[in-house]
Amino acid sequence: MTTAAQPYDSHEIWFLTGSQGLYGDDVLRQVADQSRSIAEILGAPGKIPVRLVWKPVLTDAESIRRLCLEANASDACVGVIVWMHTFSPAKMWIAGLSALDRPVLHLHTQYNLSLPWSSIDMNYMNLNQAAHGDREFAHIETRLGIDRKIVAGHATDARVVRRIATWARAAAGRHASRTLRLARFGDNMRDVAVTEGDKVEAQIRFGFSVNTYGVNDLVSVIDEIEDKAAAELAAEYCELYDAVPALRPDGVLHESLVYAARQELGLRAFLTDGGFTAFTTNFEDLGGLRQLPGIAVQRLMADGYGFGGEGDWKTSALLRVMKVMGAGLPGGTTFMEDYTYHLGPGTPRILGAHMLEVCPSVAAARPSCEIHPLSIGGREDPVRLVFDAAEGPAVVVGLSDLGDRFRLTANEVDVVGPSERLPRLPVARAVWKPRPSLAESAESWLLAGAPHHTVLSSAVDAETLADYAAMAGVELLTIGADTTYDQLAKEIRWNAAYQRLAQAL
Ligand code: MN
Repeated sequence: MTTAAQPYDSHEIWFLTGSQGLYGDDVLRQVADQSRSIAEILGAPGKIPVRLVWKPVLTDAESIRRLCLEANASDACVGVIVWMHTFSPAKMWIAGLSALDRPVLHLHTQYNLSLPWSSIDMNYMNLNQAAHGDREFAHIETRLGIDRKIVAGHATDARVVRRIATWARAAAGRHASRTLRLARFGDNMRDVAVTEGDKVEAQIRFGFSVNTYGVNDLVSVIDEIEDKAAAELAAEYCELYDAVPALRPDGVLHESLVYAARQELGLRAFLTDGGFTAFTTNFEDLGGLRQLPGIAVQRLMADGYGFGGEGDWKTSALLRVMKVMGAGLPGGTTFMEDYTYHLGPGTPRILGAHMLEVCPSVAAARPSCEIHPLSIGGREDPVRLVFDAAEGPAVVVGLSDLGDRFRLTANEVDVVGPSERLPRLPVARAVWKPRPSLAESAESWLLAGAPHHTVLSSAVDAETLADYAAMAGVELLTIGADTTYDQLAKEIRWNAAYQRLAQAL
C-alpha cells in the first residue's frame, strides 16, 4: 500500500563500475575492492539519503546490458551511479545505456586522493585510469544523448557528496512522480485557464495518473467515520494547536471542529484505500461537504500528500514530488499562491496564502486553530490552522501546460517575517522577497506564463529541482539573484526552439 511518509525506505541507487577483461584477475580484484570502498564511503549513514547498492565490476557488453535491464525491472532501483575505474571501451556500453530507463549520475572520481610521486610506476598508472576511462564513457553518453548529472571529485569531498545527495533526492522524486496516483474531488474551477492541462500528456511525461471522483464519493466515506474517532482527533487538535475558545470542547463551535476532524479521517481513508498520494478539491464543487476542507488538507500536506486548490492537479502532483525530494530535510514544503503585494516602503514583498490550505510544515511557530467565514463557496465556516511561515531562503515553483509542452518555473526567494502583526488575517501566510527583486521576478514570471498556484519549499533547493527537471525532460526556467528580464526573455525564445526540436516528430 502506498503511504505518503517515509518515501525512501524501499529505494536503492545502484553503484556500477566499468572496466574490461584485458587487465587480468589481479587488477580486476583491486578494481572491485577500490570501487566497493568508494561505494562504502558514499553510502555511509548521513551522506546520501537513498541506500547505495554496490554491483560487481562490469567488463563486457553482455553483462552491462543485462545489469541495465535488471535496473529497469527493479522496483527498488531509482537511479544508477556509473564510474569507469579503469578503461572500459565505450562501445561495450551502447546496448546497455540505450536500454537503461533510470536516471544516471556519472561519478568522475578515483580511489587515491594524491599521486604517490616518488613511487608511481606503470602499474599504478594502469590501475588508476578514470581520468581517461571516464572521458571515453562520457563520449558515448553524449553521443547517445544520455541525460545525466556529472559529478567530479574525490568521494571524501563534501561537494561531491552534496551533489550526489541532491541527485538522489531528485531520483526519488522522479520515482514518486512515476508511481503517483492523484485523486481529484470534482473538476477544476470554472473558466480558469492555468489549472487546465493535458492529463494524458502529463502521464506520458511525468508518469502520474490523474483521475476524478465525484465529491460525494468522498462525502460518503466522511459520513461513515465513527463519532468517537472524530471526537478523539478533535481533542488532539486542541492539544497540538492553540484552538480558539469557540472550538474547544466547551465552545459553541466545537461541533465544527469535530466535523473538520471527520473530514480529515475520511480523506485519509479515501486516499489510503486508493493508493493516492495527492489530491485536489474545488470550492465550487463541494457536494455534501459541509465545510471546504481546511485543517484536514493542511495536515495531510504535512504528512507528505500533494494538494492543489480549485482542482489544480498539476500543482498537487508537483507538491507531492517536492515533498518526496525534501523528505527529512530541515524546512517545509507547501501549496502556495501569490496573493497580494507590499510595493513599499522598504523592499517590495509578496504576501502568499490561499483560502485555507497552507501546509504547517513551513510554520514558524505553533499554529492557532481558528474558524472564520469563507466569503466564497456558500458553506459552513471552515476550520483552519493559522500561522506565519518561518524565515529563510526558499524556492517557489510552478508547473504550467503551454499546450505543446510543460514548463517548470522557479523563483529563488527569501521568506521574511511580516512587517507587523496581522491580527485580522484569518489564514496561514508567507511573506517573501523574490530574487532578484519583486519587479524583475514578477516581470520574468509573467513573461514565462507561469502559474499563480505554486509550491513553496524551504527544504528543496534549486539544484534538486534542476536535477529533477533534467530527469523528467521538462523545461525549467529559474529566476534567481543573477536573472535579468532581458536575458530570461532570450532564454524563453531559445528554449522554445530547443524544446520543439527536442520533441520527436
Ligand atoms: Mn487558488
